[in-house]
Amino acid sequence: MELGTALQRKLIETMARRVVAHADELTELDRAIGDADHGVNLKRGFEAVLAELDGLAAAPLGEALHKMGTTLVMKIGGASGPLYGTLLMTLGKNLRGTEPLTRERLYVAAEAAVAATKDRGKAAPGQKTMIDVLVPVLEELRAEGEGLPQRVRARAAAAAEATIPLVATRGRASFLGARSAGHMDPGARSCQILVGAVCDCLEEET
Ligand code: ADP
Ligand code: MG
Repeated sequence: MELGTALQRKLIETMARRVVAHADELTELDRAIGDADHGVNLKRGFEAVLAELDGLAAAPLGEALHKMGTTLVMKIGGASGPLYGTLLMTLGKNLRGTEPLTRERLYVAAEAAVAATKDRGKAAPGQKTMIDVLVPVLEELRAEGEGLPQRVRARAAAAAEATIPLVATRGRASFLGARSAGHMDPGARSCQILVGAVCDCLEEET
């Protein structure tokens, strides 16, 4: 498995454009249980990613992901910037070098990236955050079998839905206590959108 420059560009561009296209929806989710800025935050970050798309597409995959992470940290105010930044920077760091990009290598890098993000936010599954999508996606990456993009996409969607009944115990939504139940977590939804974008691109390639 190797990503060419064209596929790398398509992946990064699709992720960024999807988030920008869903910015209003993400902000509305955050209005219900947060401070109505998640879509605004991510849009600012991913528009900055789009502005450097040529460089990101041409760089080796590990460098590109790391750079994308640092851009998000710099541009996104709020909790989600450092968290998505940590995720992408750790993924990038673990995918540096010239070894071939195997499924195993991808899994190990993703495992390190999810662990670093959990650490950064001191969050565990069940607390109604983006971690509630990242952890099931990681599990699905590990599972053997055909149709990986389809499986991961479906798992991410189900995981985002499953945050609706949860009571938040991390992040701004936790200030609402029991009133946070009944709404999808905005970060879980943005995570689903990003994962879905990657899955759609990979599905088209195979
Ligand atoms: P802020 O909460 O600072 O306004 P955003 O609105 O951009 O930042 O992002 C909110 C999202 O970030 C939440 O929906 C949740 O998924 C995620 N989040 C917040 N705090 C944490 C945390 N400690 N660990 C993991 N994810 C978190
Ligand atoms: Mg917010």
